[in-house]
Amino acid sequence: MFEHTSDIIFLVGFVVYIVTRGIYASRTKSLETVEKRVDAMERVLLVFVMIGSLLLPILYLFTPLLNFANHVVPDWAIWIGAVVLMTALWLFWRSHADLGQNWSPTLEIRSEHRLVTCGVYRTMRHPMYTAIFLFSIAQALLLNNWIAGFSAFATFFPLYVVRRPREERMMIDQFGEEYEAYMKRSRRLFPRFKTNK
Ligand code: SAH
Repeated sequence: MFEHTSDIIFLVGFVVYIVTRGIYASRTKSLETVEKRVDAMERVLLVFVMIGSLLLPILYLFTPLLNFANHVVPDWAIWIGAVVLMTALWLFWRSHADLGQNWSPTLEIRSEHRLVTCGVYRTMRHPMYTAIFLFSIAQALLLNNWIAGFSAFATFFPLYVVRRPREERMMIDQFGEEYEAYMKRSRRLFPRFKTNK
């Protein structure tokens, strides 16, 4: 167990990632939800995400089950992976902090839901998904295993493709022109550095 420094770097980041989510989940779990848009397809995709981003890294780190797919990551990947990991953790924390009481793990509208367009949401509509993509890339760069390395990216990508348009539809239904105007001045996953308004 833990022959490679990069596995240990990933494990530290993984714990920070889970603790961050746990803190915000416990702060919002008692809030009232007025609308929930989660269907069977989203539930199945969420189960895949749990397998790819939780179960497989844990199996690789703590059991020999995935050893047949081990490899050794090169030094350049460790350096880049560590920087991507820290960026992901910062953005993951900031997006939870900026969304505050409006955050939910699935597509939901809270009873006092407000549209957030400040902080990391100022020019990016989906910074939390950007953070998850960055974390998945760090997982691929740091874990010394082909399966556990690429499983988070491979399982989050389909969820993002299905969820993003549904989420934007839900936000337009809820906030109308306010969200449409926000869509015009923001980008999905990357910040907009030049604002024309
Ligand atoms: N897609 C966003 C938020 C993910 S959390 C991101 O990647 O950062 C998902 C929940 O956040 C959704 O159920 C929606 O209710 C809420 N949400 C998404 N964007 C929001 C915004 N700009 N303001 C307030 N709530 C938002």
